[in-house]
Amino acid sequence: MNITHHFDDATLMAYSAGSLPQGMALLVACHLHWCPHCRERSEQTDAIGGALLNQLAPTRLNDDALNAVLARLDEPEQEFASVKHDTVSSAAAAELPAPLAQMLGKPIDQLPWKRIGYGVRQLDLELDGPGATRLLRISPGVSVPHHTHGGNELTLILRGSYNDEIGRFCMGDVADLDDDVSHQPIVDTNEDCICLIATDAPLKFSGLMGRLVQPFIGL
Ligand SMILES: [Zn+2]
Repeated sequence: MNITHHFDDATLMAYSAGSLPQGMALLVACHLHWCPHCRERSEQTDAIGGALLNQLAPTRLNDDALNAVLARLDEPEQEFASVKHDTVSSAAAAELPAPLAQMLGKPIDQLPWKRIGYGVRQLDLELDGPGATRLLRISPGVSVPHHTHGGNELTLILRGSYNDEIGRFCMGDVADLDDDVSHQPIVDTNEDCICLIATDAPLKFSGLMGRLVQPFIGL
């Protein structure tokens, strides 16, 4: 896999700090599974966060702080997905990054895709937190309507490729976009492009086609 598009430093810092919404954290974990370059960067941001914590002046805790921490240790660990499969098909494990394969349990072609028109199918992933997380499956030659973002949008390419105003994105690449970017991805090979997309706010579509599909894609 030849990955050429990576996360911004700010995204990796937010991931290290645990402040990303659940879907965006899932997407970062998936890219890290595939990308040694970002794994190394993520270890550095973890270290920076630890160093900053060490420099903070100590403050006095409430008397019950220790008990509160011990009680939280007994709570079940947060899962990325509301559905976590005990068995993951080998086909899913071969084509998907481990956190997503574990959550979906089956390969891409066996998922319950929902057709939303214009050569686009989607599968919503019901995760906690603000924004939305979904898989999009876009047919060759189809473009997603021109849109800007009310917040941040992360996209991870799982299969195929697309082109937009920023560049060409292939399997393993991430697009890390903030709210001042407007773009219109178009699938540029004869293979479906399948992406994992996580946002922390609804997308804003522009133009007539955008207004038509907004009820289906936007939240
Ligand atoms: Zn990377």
